[in-house]
Amino acid sequence: MEKALIESSRNIAIHIAILWVPNMRILKMQPKFLDKFLESLEKFGALYGPVHRNGVMKYDRIESVSELDLSGHQLPMIPVKKLFNPKQFTMLHFNEKGFYPDYSMIEKRVIIGVHPCEIHGVLRLDEIFLNDPADPYYAGLRDNSAIIGFSCWPTESSLCKSAGTDIVDEGFDLFFMNLNEFYLVWVGSSRGYDMIHEREEFFEQEVSHEDMRKYIEWRNKRNEVFKLEIDFGSMPDIMELSHNSEVWDYFAEKCLSCGQCTMVCPTCNCYNVSDVFDVTNETTGRRERTWDSCMFVDYSLVAGGHNFRESRADRLKLWYTHKLKTFGSEYGRPGCIGCGRCVDTCPVDINVVTVSQALISGEVPKE
Ligand code: SF4
Ligand code: SF4
Repeated sequence: MEKALIESSRNIAIHIAILWVPNMRILKMQPKFLDKFLESLEKFGALYGPVHRNGVMKYDRIESVSELDLSGHQLPMIPVKKLFNPKQFTMLHFNEKGFYPDYSMIEKRVIIGVHPCEIHGVLRLDEIFLNDPADPYYAGLRDNSAIIGFSCWPTESSLCKSAGTDIVDEGFDLFFMNLNEFYLVWVGSSRGYDMIHEREEFFEQEVSHEDMRKYIEWRNKRNEVFKLEIDFGSMPDIMELSHNSEVWDYFAEKCLSCGQCTMVCPTCNCYNVSDVFDVTNETTGRRERTWDSCMFVDYSLVAGGHNFRESRADRLKLWYTHKLKTFGSEYGRPGCIGCGRCVDTCPVDINVVTVSQALISGEVPKE
């Protein structure tokens, strides 16, 4: 009983904290207005969101809001990072006189249905790409994209509660909390206010104590669903102590160096650039930027043929040290936002859960 009271007071405290975030406001909307409201957002840019295409859930441009899957029960396979740091694009064109940046991919967009952990992922990328000097491609895409967050429900692989990313209080223009009977809608930016003003008649200004109680109940129920847990707070020390652990060799034996874990991880951001010359004129061409992966054997290959991380164990150690230790030392928050994609994706069961469990126990997993 005492524990329940403490938990309940904590939830109320968190809720009040959310309400008191400067410039943030909370409204209420009936579900029957949702589609019409989302359609009205076309005025702010091309609409994107989670859709099912060829059997895969992905973030994509939509023609109609009826295409969207806003149930919150599944995450798109490739995170929303691909809309800010595209998998491949042309950075610039060059000729004998100089070079000309290509910003043609930057357009006004509204990205609907972004889960809280994904918004935290974008905030982590901001730390990297918007630090002085800012990456103009990322900055352009970020400035021109509105984010409409939606609440979600944990999957078998979700770790967001452990990572503290199951709620979000910044990084969105609007955030819709789906409580089935109604939505609570947080407004997080002046662009969010402009969106609300488009269809003010859909929103109720008063949120009652009873509405709040339903929200807290929903959160308590959701908190019981999580199956996986990681003590992220202790991982930096565990990583420090595990440099020579046999655990790395165990996982290295299994790893296929396929790089899938890095492609699906919302905070992975490595890329490569290459110049592509025109076949008819060797002085003109374009510079392409493409995602890269520190799991690939040639990632750390440098001139002269030296490879800093030729072994798979070293590459795995780099990835997990970055996620669980060094990103936090630099930016104050772990490099893992707990989305669970590595859990769902790695074909040989190497992921943030299996690796951290093995490192904490100091023993290789039993086959
Ligand atoms: S850890 Fe898994 S997903 Fe990542 S490179 Fe190795 S086999 Fe591929
Ligand atoms: S390490 Fe795994 S769970 Fe963490 S953010 Fe990356 S893909 Fe998601």
